[in-house]
Amino acid sequence: MSSRLSHLECARCGKSSDAFVLQNRCDCGGTLIPRYNLGTSVSLDEVRSRPPGPWRYEELLPLQRAPVSLGESETPLLFCERLSERLGVAIWIKDDAPLPGSTFKARGACVGLSRAVELGVKRVVMPSAGNAGGAWSLYAARAGIEITVTMSSEAPDFNKAEVSFAGGELVLVDGTIADAGARAKQLVRQTGAWLATTFSEPYRVDGKKTAWLEVFDRFGDGSSMTMPGTVVLPVGGGVAAIALAKAAREVVELGWAEGPAPAIVGVQSADCAPIVRAFDAGADEVAPWAAQPTSSAAGLRVPAPSEGWLVLKEVRASGGSMQGASEEEIRSAIGDLASTEGIFACPEGAATLVAAERLAHEGALREPVVLYNTGAGAKYLELLR
Ligand SMILES: [Zn+2]
Repeated sequence: MSSRLSHLECARCGKSSDAFVLQNRCDCGGTLIPRYNLGTSVSLDEVRSRPPGPWRYEELLPLQRAPVSLGESETPLLFCERLSERLGVAIWIKDDAPLPGSTFKARGACVGLSRAVELGVKRVVMPSAGNAGGAWSLYAARAGIEITVTMSSEAPDFNKAEVSFAGGELVLVDGTIADAGARAKQLVRQTGAWLATTFSEPYRVDGKKTAWLEVFDRFGDGSSMTMPGTVVLPVGGGVAAIALAKAAREVVELGWAEGPAPAIVGVQSADCAPIVRAFDAGADEVAPWAAQPTSSAAGLRVPAPSEGWLVLKEVRASGGSMQGASEEEIRSAIGDLASTEGIFACPEGAATLVAAERLAHEGALREPVVLYNTGAGAKYLELLR
């Protein structure tokens, strides 16, 4: 691997930290973002001479050694002819369901866990709404390290099974991912294991970034990458949204693409929409959502996203917006996507169609539009009955 990793930078206070030792958060509590030496050129031609998929962008990933891998490959970017006709704008779907574990969480897990292993971690503890815990457990098994996942007892059965079959320790808690997060911190204090909570673990964001590098590459031509006009993506914790903004900045800095960066449209379940509420109120910080979420979009049951402020900042800077989707709309969109385009999306992914349809009617979408399907609908069957 020829990583250009330079240091970690706090998203709150800007302070630099050493990227070559294990880190969680900055002293100020801010999340640490990996920064790369992009000053000297990295040739897009050379990158494109490698096999497609996340690892071809190795200079923009933190890994110093070969990754813990389950054979991640580039996922499809599908043009949706019938949806485009109906919405009156060019609609594409980036479909991450074919990844290991049938979820986009594989991107964060293979990079985050690989980095933890090369920095000496032998045991990981992490809270999860479901899919991340499943994916990290599979990669931990692949790496031969121990993992404990704290998860809401209301998480999808599939995810609980993934953790258990992968040999992880599954700790079910009453409540939401916020409660699972508190339990994970407690376990870290008791066991000395390493805490891999979203945004307390610095590197999964760069794994998630590879989805967007693949999209920009696919829209590009022989000499450069091209960014889409709008990306509509589900927002639970918001890693994919922050990763999108980061990917767009890095490719411009490298001279691989020209701006403008895509407008980011974040979608939450109306059942748990703390960032939508903050966006609509013009707030800079996100207040926790009080009601207990029950949405079939389990990945969107994140009532207190720790870096919600950063999601708000990136969404606003991009000229995008935050949108809510009701449970009825999400369920209907799953059938709509499957019957119209043959894509059996997860509820989180289907929620993007709800937002796209609404914004298309308002004439508020810059083309081309990419909807992000973050996983397979088949993982959610008991929640969709
Ligand atoms: Zn800081």
